[in-house]
Parts: sequence; C-alpha cells; structure tokens
Amino acid sequence: MTRITKLFISFVVLVSSTGLVFGQKEFYNNNKFKQLDEELPTPNVYRTGSGAPGHEYWQQKADYVIEASIDEKLHRLTGAETVTYYNNSPDVLTYLWIQLDQNMRATDSDTYKIRQNKVGKSVNINQLAGIDGFPEYDGGHKIQKVTDASGNPIKYTINKTMMRLDLPQALNPGEKVTFNIDWYYNINDRLLMGGRGGYETFAEDGNTIYTITQWFPRMAVYDDFNGWQHKQFLGNGEFALTFGDYDVKITVPSDHIVASTGELQNPDEILTEEQKKRFEESKTADKPVVIVSQKEAEKKEKTVESGTKTWHYKAKNVRDFAFGSSRKFIWDAMGVDINGKTVMAMSYYPKEANPLYGQYSTEAVAHTLEVYSKYTIDYPYPVAISVEASNGMEYPMICFNYGRPEKDGTYSPRIKYGMISVIIHEVGHNFFPMIINSDERQWTWMDEGLNTFCQYLAEQEWEVGYPSRRGPAENIVNYMKGEKNNITPIMTNSESIKQFGNNAYGKPATALNILRETIMGRELFDYAFKEYAERWAFKHPKPADFYRTMEDASGVDLDWFWRGWFYTTEAVDISIEDVTFVELDTQDPKVEEAKRKAKRDAQPKDITTIHNEEINLSRRVDRKPELKDFYNSYDELDANYEDYEKYKKYQSSLNKNDKAWIASNKHLYEVKFKNVGGLVMPIIVELQYEDGTSEKKYIPAEIWKKDDIVVSKVFVCDKPVVQFVLDPNRETADIDTENNYFPRQNQMSRFQLYKSGANQPRSYDSGRLNPMQKAKKKK
Ligand SMILES: [Zn+2]
Repeated sequence: MTRITKLFISFVVLVSSTGLVFGQKEFYNNNKFKQLDEELPTPNVYRTGSGAPGHEYWQQKADYVIEASIDEKLHRLTGAETVTYYNNSPDVLTYLWIQLDQNMRATDSDTYKIRQNKVGKSVNINQLAGIDGFPEYDGGHKIQKVTDASGNPIKYTINKTMMRLDLPQALNPGEKVTFNIDWYYNINDRLLMGGRGGYETFAEDGNTIYTITQWFPRMAVYDDFNGWQHKQFLGNGEFALTFGDYDVKITVPSDHIVASTGELQNPDEILTEEQKKRFEESKTADKPVVIVSQKEAEKKEKTVESGTKTWHYKAKNVRDFAFGSSRKFIWDAMGVDINGKTVMAMSYYPKEANPLYGQYSTEAVAHTLEVYSKYTIDYPYPVAISVEASNGMEYPMICFNYGRPEKDGTYSPRIKYGMISVIIHEVGHNFFPMIINSDERQWTWMDEGLNTFCQYLAEQEWEVGYPSRRGPAENIVNYMKGEKNNITPIMTNSESIKQFGNNAYGKPATALNILRETIMGRELFDYAFKEYAERWAFKHPKPADFYRTMEDASGVDLDWFWRGWFYTTEAVDISIEDVTFVELDTQDPKVEEAKRKAKRDAQPKDITTIHNEEINLSRRVDRKPELKDFYNSYDELDANYEDYEKYKKYQSSLNKNDKAWIASNKHLYEVKFKNVGGLVMPIIVELQYEDGTSEKKYIPAEIWKKDDIVVSKVFVCDKPVVQFVLDPNRETADIDTENNYFPRQNQMSRFQLYKSGANQPRSYDSGRLNPMQKAKKKK
C-alpha cells in the first residue's frame, strides 16, 4: 500500500434547487437485499443449493398403451389404457393418484361452484348457463373398470378430478406396476362451453374439428417436493405430469386426417401413395409442402364416409399426449434442421384459416424451433405441429392455435401478428413446460412467464419492429401502477392469481428481459438461462431451482431482484429529487472577487432603489463631496491583502497534479435519488450537456444496499449539465416518468393531452374495414 497525501479542496454550493421536501428521517433500510434463504427450501440431495438436480435426484415414470375412438355422431370418446408405473422414488407406495381432468366438466364440478357471479345490467343466456355449468351436458370421465395386469379389479376412490388406486400390494422402490382403465366421456362443444379441447362444428358444411386433450386418465406427479401433486383441477392451474413412453391407436372416421403427438407408425395403411410421396418431399424442402391440399379437403367436406381408420402413433419421453381429427384438415410440412437433426414442422388447418395458415403456420413452427433451440436446448422431438382450432393450447409436439382471415381472404394486422405470436407461444411451450417440466398446477409463471420471454425473443427475430405485446419493459407499466388490491405477486398459486395474463405471462417475461438487457447483460443471462434449461430438461424444476441456477451460473446475486419482482407487488418508480451544483473554490482572490461581485450584481434591486433611480434622486454627499471618506469608495467584496497571503500559502501547498485538476475546471453535481415505487433497481441516468452531447451512467442496484429510499451520487463532469434524465431508454418499467427529469419537464396536462388527442393513438385496425380491404377499395 502506498501512502497518498489527500488534497482537500473546498467547494462552494452554487445552486441547490430544493423545493422538494424530504421527510425528517433520511435513512431507511427495508432489507431489500436480504438473501432469499428463508423463503426457499433447504437444499438437499435431490435439489442442490446451486439450483441443479442433486446426486440422488429421482423422478417417476409412466408408460401408456392406449386405444381410443371417436364417435362422430355422439361426440363421444371411448378409450382403454394400460399404464405401467415405475416407482423410482426411495419410498414405498401403497396407493397411486390419477388425474381425471374431464371431471372438471362433470355435473358436480367444483369449478362452477367456486366461480363468483354478479348480475350486471344485461346477461346473455350462455352466461346464465355458465352459473351452474351446463347441467344438460354430462361431461365427466366415465370410469368403466380398473383392473390389474391379470384382469382383477383394483379398488379405487374418485375425489372430484382425482382418483386414488389402492394397490393390492405395496409398490417398493425400484418396482413397477401395470394396471388397466376403461373409460369414455362426452366431448364438449368448445365454442359453447370453452375449454382447452373439445369439438367445433362448422355451420356452413356441418363438419367438425376435434381437438382431444386431457382425455385419458393420467398419472399425477409424485416427487421429493410435494409427495403427490393432487391439487384439484379447477380450470386455471394447468397440469403436473410424469414423463413416459406412449403407444396410442386412434380410431376415427376413415375420411378424417389425424394430427397427433408422436410419430405415425402405419403410414402405409393410412396415407395414399401421393400423400406419402409429398411427405417424403417435405423432409428436405425449404418451404412447406402441401400433403393434403385445400382442394382435396374441400372435396371431402361434401361427403361423409361410413368406415373408420386407426392411426397408430408412438411418442418417447413425453409428459402428455394430444391429437386433433377432422375431414376438414389441410396438411403441410417442412423439415427443419436442428443441429444436424431433421425435425418435421407441420400444420393442420381448415380452409377457413387460409390463406394465413398456408403462408405462415409451418414457417412460424420452424422459426420457433430454431430460436428456442438457440436459447434453451436443441428441440429433441421428431415433429412439431400447429393445428388451427381457433384457440391457443399446448401439448408435447402438438398445439392448437387461432388465426382465421375474413371471408374475402384479407385480414387485419391484429389477426396476422396474433396468429404468428400464438403459434410461437404454443410451439414454444414444448420447451416450457413439456420438456422443462414445471408444475403448472402450482406455478403458472414457471412455464407461461419463461415461455412468453422466449416468445418475445423469437418475435423480434421474425421481422424488424415486430409488434410484441409482452416483453418490453414499457408494456408492463400500466399493470405495475394499477390498484394494489387488484395485483398479486408472481409467486402466487395458479388458482389465486389476479389478472392472469399480466401476472403470469407479462410480468415474469418482462422481468427476465430486464435481467437480460439491463441488469445482467446478454452474455451472463443467456449462459445461465441455457444452463437452467439444460439442467432441468426432462426433469421437474421448482422456482428455487430456477432462481438458484440463474445466480449460480452467472455469478450475479439476484436475491434482491427475485424478492422484489417475484414476491411483492411493488413497482419501479425512481425520482430525481434534487440536484446540487457545486463549484470549486479557487481561492484565487481575483477570480473569487469577480464571482462574488457578479453574484451580487445579479441580485434584483429593491423597489425604493428603483424608484429613486427613476427620479434621479439628489443625495447630500453628492452635493457636498467633503462629506465622503474611505468607506464611500470601499467595496467589502474587494480582494484584500489577507486574501492574497492566504492564496500564496494555498498555492505552495499544491503539487503539479492538484494544479492540473483545478485548472481542468470540473463541474460537480450531487444528485439525490428517491425510491418512490419500492422496487430497488439500477439507476440509469443520462447527463445532457450544455453543448448538446449526452452521456449515460449506469449505477448498479446495489447502491440501495444500505439505504433503500434515498441515495445520493456525485457526478464530476467536464462540461455543464443542463438536464438529468432517469432511464432514458425506458428499460426499467418505471411507472412515473415525470420525476425522471431534473429540472422537471413541463409535461402537457391531461386536459391538453385530451384536447390534442395526443394520448389517443389510432387503433391498429380501426374502422369497419381492415387495412387490406381499404387498400383494395382505393384501386
Ligand atoms: Zn401459454
């Protein structure tokens, strides 16, 4: 260590523009940087403190062999399944829990009972029907029989949407058990009752699209964290599912085309020679190849075949299985290269979705696989399918999306970009939660939030200026400044979330984008995010595993960020409260004299002096000069002998460096920042200089460590600052920008905004006609 002589330079406070009043207490600490240890589970051999699976991590496995058939007349699905359940846990199991999701639609379902209702001024009949569900529709899972491998009945108990099998013999660690369930259920009218799956019948041609989801009794998850995850399926909290291999035979009317999870095992029985040829071509094509054309599909719409066909699929290591079936389906496909492996991107859609689906759907699937693979893991499955079904819902390898243009083939930008976004989103769900298999029943954000974040990345890689709805910090501001009693923290159970879309999709996606762009930087963030995906692919991660991995792999302590953004409803609002401009006291008698006098001369004159000057008031001492003495010409601000002596001494105390620093004529600003919103965040401040240039300073959030309400920072500048601006690029979701400026900007009042219409941007596709239709009319 070297000893350095410290130079004490004194300053004169020139301008302290207060006017903004602080409370008496100027030191606050709400412990916003306290580590999360008390909130997170204690690490153990199954889940480590680094966020990785532990050395004794285990998970269960369930394989399914299913035969199912659709009765198009009754809209009924009938199935028989054989489940082989592997107990990889260290625990002895005496019972198993199985999910009967269709019981959410049973006549005694709690879903309707716990729904709050209000009567407004007008109610439509569907809403009234929805109060008690749809009593005339019997939608529950009808369990026909449950038997063991040799066909003997197994005792079972149904508790709403969950079924417990009481095993005849305890299932020991390392053992497996096989059992059979026969069942059927009445498929719901999706347009009438809503739902992730169901049927949609087209009025014009009388044909139906089936989207079959949550359709077979599925194993609940048993893990180290919860034991059995058997929270009831009420509608919002989605699914917690075990990985396994599937062998599924689907019997449908012979003129139907089936779109399904997995790989088709019997193309020779099912497809025509022409279809097989087209499919082969599509594998190496650089644009989608039509396998069933619109013309072919339209022809089939006009007749109904009486026979059936059985489509046989196999899927390895998936957590679920879904399919769609219709004679209306057009089908196209294109091979996508994912690091040397060809994945088939495919789309199935009715003619009502053309020309949009034909042009964009399969390209959007391919784009999603490419972008997501870059940021997470290589897409591991052989196919990825987008089905147009006028909704948005995800399953392994297959998802159901919307996007139907007008009858004249035109469409609004809202439909076009909504369609591309929903396809990216639902295909993206293959990664979260189908592969990085989080518990959706408990945490919606773990899949929706992470997926919406990746969706934003993919959208921005689609085209310049893509109109992303969620991701940019600015887009979450309205939600963040909303009524506190209408907001819940991100860390809220799926069924208790208020403002589902903002809470579970928008806010976590924005938070991750802020981490990436502002707090961690792309390099550290991307590495840690990919590490999380790699560690937890084909496993069951929990929130702590995500938080811990993001920190462990990046070397950034983010506990304050998780604590603020994920556990509270606080918002970001940092204010520049005060700027004090300090100038160097040169102690040079001549320089300081001039400054003192200039300051005095700048003072306003009092009114009597002004009036006296106006009348040129005659004074006695002017009329009789003999009355004047020393003090009539003395100026107390003049530099004097003592000043010069002091200055000489000061000069001799300065070394070369000190003198150079003084000569450089720095401008010093002490800026006081206040945390109004509660969330601690980095302080990003732009200094705009008198000469028109500007400079952005980034102060890490840790500046709030000792005092999380008020902090001050001194900026040493070469040139005068005329304006300080906080967060100039709007990257922190600061909910009040008025206090981001110092001096404050004169912002237009609400009244002025209203009058000028500046606050009312033209709607994206306002008017009766969409922009494509308007353009056609003009011609
Ligand atoms: Zn989603």
